[in-house]
This record gives sequence, C-alpha cells and structure tokens, in this order.
Amino acid sequence: MTAAAKRVEYVPRCTCPLHDPSRGQGNQTLRLWDTIRDAPSLRTFRILRCATCGVALTDPYPSESTLKWLYVGRQSVSNFDPIAGTIMDRLKGWFARRDIRYAHAVGGSPSVTTVLDYGAGSGRFSLACKQVFRACAVDAVDFDEEPPPELRDVPGLRYLQHEAFLGESRQYDFIVLRAVLEHVHDPIGTLRALSQRLSPGGMLYLEVPCIDSAYIHYFGRSCNAYGVPYHLFNFDFGSLRLSLREAGLSAKVFAKGLPLAGCVLATTLRQERSLAHQMAGVLLHPVQLCLEARRGKYILAAVCTKRHSDGLIDEPVCVTMAT
Ligand SMILES: [Zn+2]
Repeated sequence: MTAAAKRVEYVPRCTCPLHDPSRGQGNQTLRLWDTIRDAPSLRTFRILRCATCGVALTDPYPSESTLKWLYVGRQSVSNFDPIAGTIMDRLKGWFARRDIRYAHAVGGSPSVTTVLDYGAGSGRFSLACKQVFRACAVDAVDFDEEPPPELRDVPGLRYLQHEAFLGESRQYDFIVLRAVLEHVHDPIGTLRALSQRLSPGGMLYLEVPCIDSAYIHYFGRSCNAYGVPYHLFNFDFGSLRLSLREAGLSAKVFAKGLPLAGCVLATTLRQERSLAHQMAGVLLHPVQLCLEARRGKYILAAVCTKRHSDGLIDEPVCVTMAT
C-alpha cells in the first residue's frame, strides 16, 4: 500500500451513534462543548455533547477505514504507555494487578482460566492478568502485526492481531476492555461482540475517560485531555450505562482516579515525560485529589456480566475506588 493510502481521513460528526430516535430514544441534538487545536495533526476539533445521552463526540473523527493508521507503529505514548522496566513501571504493574483483583472481587470472584485483553497496547494489563490468575491462558489483541516487546515469549500468553482474533470463536472467563471503547466507531456493537465471547458466568471489566472529570474540566485544551484525534467519544455515567444496557450487559459502574499530575506537569512545561515529572506528580497528588473532589475522577470503570435472559438488569452501583 502506498504512503498516500495510509493517511488518516476525517469525517464530520453529525449524529450521536449511541441511540436511535426512530426507537423513541430522544433526538440527535449535538451542542458545542469545546474546541481544541491539535498541534501534531494540525487540525482543530470540536467537542460536541449529545443533548439526549450526554456523551461527548469528537468532530471531525477518523474514518473507520483509515483509523488504524493512527495506531500502527505504536507511536502514541499516551495510548501505548511503553513498559521500560523503571520503578514507575513496577508501580504501574502493582496498580494494574490491584485493579484486576478489585474488579474480579466486585464481579463475584468467578473462576478464571481464560483471559482476553482486547486492545492490549503495551501489554501491561495482559501481564497483570497472567500474574493475578496464575494458571490462566491470556490472549492479547491489538492492531499491530507484531506483539509489544514485553509480550514476546511469555508462557501461557498469546498475541493476536485483530483480524486473527475475529476469525476465532474462543470464549473467555475474564475480558479486559481498558481505554478502548472511546477509540472505536461503534461502542455498543463492540460491547455486543465481546459479550458473545464471554463464557457462561464470565465477566468483562472496562475503563473509559469521563467527560465530567476534573482532568477534562481544567486541562481539556491545554493537555488535550479530550484525547483528540484518538478519542472518538468521551463518556459520562449516563451514556456509559446506556451503551452497556443496549449491549445486553448488566453492570456495576464506578468512578476511579488515575495519577495524572506528572503528565500535566510535563505537558504544561512542554517537556517529554520523565521520572522527574512522575516523582513531582506523586508530590502533587494531593492537589489532584482536591480538584477531583470538586469536579470528579477521570476514569469510569464498569464490571459487567451478560444480562439475565428474563430481561432483568442488576441495579448499577456507584462505589469509589481509592487511589
Ligand atoms: Zn447521544
């Protein structure tokens, strides 16, 4: 394929894909929420908020057929968070294992022998699952042909390119869908497809950014907290619950903090992220907690199971995970 054919194309956002007015699900009014200039892509993006479901939509957004060219080569540090074996990596690994254990407990601690990490990125959560569920077989799935370096030659762990994954029908006891749903064109369709890959009694754990958070409120433009052009959506509680319900999933949804002060500091100073920024971020974490107390945490997490066949849905519960 030629270099020209690998260019990302952008299309205007005119409707909200999360609900259907013809089924009585509100209207398609999109209101301007913010505008952000993205220097790397030399584009200005509008953030539109759906008046019916509350989701925030990026306008314009990468076309479905050219989206993968945004990710090939794992060039985006913010999306791939490479593992370099530093002290911070060990700390992030500990938090990843803690999050997996917490979600597993919230989901009722089902037996886990097969795990899917869909949109595995650097593989941090694939490795965390392998360590938490020691005897399990882990499939890590992403766009790239080659696995990330850390996932090579790990016993019991298999890397699959996305097309290969679609060609299989293997079922999983535990599916991780972390920082993925906001990147795909059809969040409800993605959730439906993954729910079909859940084994009986299996659970899905997902995380998405929250539009109603301190990070986006204070740093939406200056730090590209909207995640343009990568994030096609930024959810709120209502739109995430709607998506899960439409996908036939029962869910427990909760807000969760993510240490971001070091990232904000590096971006504000226009410097590459380093250990010094991360250490300063640790010292500034109390400031982040104060801002979150006013405006909300950055991550919405959900522990999901297939909805009961009689149509009943568990009442969603809101709990706050300590950070
Ligand atoms: Zn909507």
